[in-house]
Amino acid sequence: MSGLPALRLGHLYPAEMNIYADRGNIAVLRQRLAWRGLALEVTDLEVGDPVEPGAHDLYYLGGGQDRDQQVVAEDLVATKAEGLRAAVDAGAAALCVCGGFQLAGHGYTGTDGHRMPGVGILDLDTVAGPTRLIGNLVIDAEIAGETVRVVGFENHAGRTRLGPGARPLGRVVSGHGNNGDDGFEGGVRDRVIGTYLHGPLLPKNPRLADILIAWALEHRTGEPPVLAPLDDALEVAAHDAAVARALASNGRRPARR
Ligand code: GLN
Repeated sequence: MSGLPALRLGHLYPAEMNIYADRGNIAVLRQRLAWRGLALEVTDLEVGDPVEPGAHDLYYLGGGQDRDQQVVAEDLVATKAEGLRAAVDAGAAALCVCGGFQLAGHGYTGTDGHRMPGVGILDLDTVAGPTRLIGNLVIDAEIAGETVRVVGFENHAGRTRLGPGARPLGRVVSGHGNNGDDGFEGGVRDRVIGTYLHGPLLPKNPRLADILIAWALEHRTGEPPVLAPLDDALEVAAHDAAVARALASNGRRPARR
């Protein structure tokens, strides 16, 4: 091992919010750290568990059906919101995917009209629309000073609108994105990323995985890390194949709805 301390991941609601192979994202983080001689320590943060600011370098909140989100939304606000807000204000990283992206915002009004509160670590709000936005999704993300093409799958009824405190993760190249009409996908502030992209997201988007790892290590050690490059031939081939398939199935322009 490298001598650096383990990166500490707080996995929010692994039992309820795991609908799109969310554990695959965590496996990627663990493996990319292991290849560099670094360890990942995962703490499951379940219903009732508090979030202690400073205890984790990275938080993960995955996707869920409306009914899963209802189970966790009240708990999120009651036991975790304050700690999470303090943690990300102090530079902890977070990746919030799909249902988790919605609950990272101010709230989500589901398909039955039920309003679920969000944790408010991203300035955005979500209301379910009459149809589901489903399909392959390609975006050009502007993140950590780079433009990174990111690909995945989306399946959501929610239409998400960003407030002035969040900027989009990227622009839709092909697919629906946050709401199907403004051309934005995801939301970012500080080291917090929310996105509708899943599938899971990180196996075929290794650059995004390394950006999150670098942010979390910087939180852990106080220094920007130098990450040893990895042989990403397989990951890049998977990425390129997924992008090609998405562009072929959707067309290059954002999908019509
Ligand atoms: N239930 C939410 C929606 O339909 C999120 C779906 C998801 O996480 N896949 O918008």
